[in-house]
Amino acid sequence: MKPLYQARDRIEAQLLKDFLGGYHIRVLVQGEYLSGAAGELPVIQFPQLWALEDRDYDRARELIGLFLERDTGDDPWQCQKCGEWIEPQFQICWNCATKRV
Ligand SMILES: [Zn+2]
Repeated sequence: MKPLYQARDRIEAQLLKDFLGGYHIRVLVQGEYLSGAAGELPVIQFPQLWALEDRDYDRARELIGLFLERDTGDDPWQCQKCGEWIEPQFQICWNCATKRV
């Protein structure tokens, strides 16, 4: 197995797991919690995603890339109405004045 991606938090890890599951790629989330020594609070680590099948690795990396692009607010966005690509600093389509969703 190869590590695919280091998630920011459990929620992102779960979203990615579900997302990849939709493409029939099975992943494992590891390292969410490490139990500390007795009397200590458990250490929460950044969860890591692993592809269960090595043959899924390249496809999974590609899909994660797409997922992350969709997720950030700093990339150009595509107008839902006319399909134009808009620079991230604008919240309204220059072509048809549709608001960013
Ligand atoms: Zn538009």
